[in-house]
Amino acid sequence: MKSHYIDLFSDTQTRPTPGMRAAMAQAIVGDEQSDDDPTTLELCKQSAELMGQEAGVFMPSGTMCNLAAILTHTRPGDEMICDHQSHIYCTEAAGASALAGVSVWPLQSPHGIFEVQQVIDAVRPRTRTAPRTSLLTIEQTTNFSGGAIWPLAQLRAVRDAGHAHGLKCHMDGARLLNATATTGISAAEYASGWDSVWIDLSKGLGCPVGAVLCGSADFIHQAWQWKYRLGGAMRQSGVLAAAGLYALEHNIAQLKTDNMNAQTIWNTLSGSDLFRFDPAQPSSNILRFTFNAEGINAEAFAKRCLAEGVRIRALGGNFIRATTHLDVSAQEAETAAQTMLSVAQAMATRG
Ligand SMILES: *Cc1c(COP(=O)(O)O)cnc(C)c1O
Repeated sequence: MKSHYIDLFSDTQTRPTPGMRAAMAQAIVGDEQSDDDPTTLELCKQSAELMGQEAGVFMPSGTMCNLAAILTHTRPGDEMICDHQSHIYCTEAAGASALAGVSVWPLQSPHGIFEVQQVIDAVRPRTRTAPRTSLLTIEQTTNFSGGAIWPLAQLRAVRDAGHAHGLKCHMDGARLLNATATTGISAAEYASGWDSVWIDLSKGLGCPVGAVLCGSADFIHQAWQWKYRLGGAMRQSGVLAAAGLYALEHNIAQLKTDNMNAQTIWNTLSGSDLFRFDPAQPSSNILRFTFNAEGINAEAFAKRCLAEGVRIRALGGNFIRATTHLDVSAQEAETAAQTMLSVAQAMATRG
């Protein structure tokens, strides 16, 4: 195996740059728990503005943003609606069930983007015996279903249907800014009317840790209590928040490049009939594909690629996910694509 590889495993693999580290070292700090950390307060303020919300709370992770939102919006015995491939449903250790006591109704959709009618059909009747449906969640962009972007009209229609049926609407915006980078539609426009929304700082924005959950002042007050109960309250968190502020200033523009680099990889691979992309074309920084050739196994493919200097992620169902980010240059994206192409060709001819 090569000592250095091009890492397309996830955009979580970014390392803080010297500039970001310098900002962290110089951060003015105080006690976050008593609202005395000026750097954290500034990050929350800027993030809330970015998402068009009243207030924000700094969280150690996106997972805690989702969990605190679920805990705030629901009570035990409720049910929530999300996509069957959503991060909340697949990879958060069933926090919704384990800690919020909420059952999950997973909707089937091709790319994490479901229809209004599916939401309406999933809402339980208000009977003595049925769980109370109280929350709807979506991902913008969708992660495991291939980085797809909810069209604004559909996003609003689903939100309105949720509200019409008395549901709270939560947007998992881990990569919301990647959607903005592609469409030019602002994060605030996407998030308008949602009861809670968050962005991840530790994905494409390049921070070592952190996410910011936003919503109304009342929602944030309750979410803050959950953060505290869950052990997520911090002290001199300005050291971490400074990385977030640095990212908001310097790294948002980079997301456009990441999305273009995903396109570059797609351009090379889609020229070969060995690959089948799903979605057919990337719209953000995530590519998801499987193989037309018999005998190419995703796990084995990922292993071979790693030996050739490219790290990607094998998902279930013989799918591969490749994710671009600020530690992958345009040249590396091209090199990675050539490597994946030649590995697939070698595996296909060998049968
Ligand atoms: C990464 C991710 C999360 C969880 O965020 P962490 O900061 O890793 O805890 C939640 N939802 C989506 C869509 C994600 O991609």
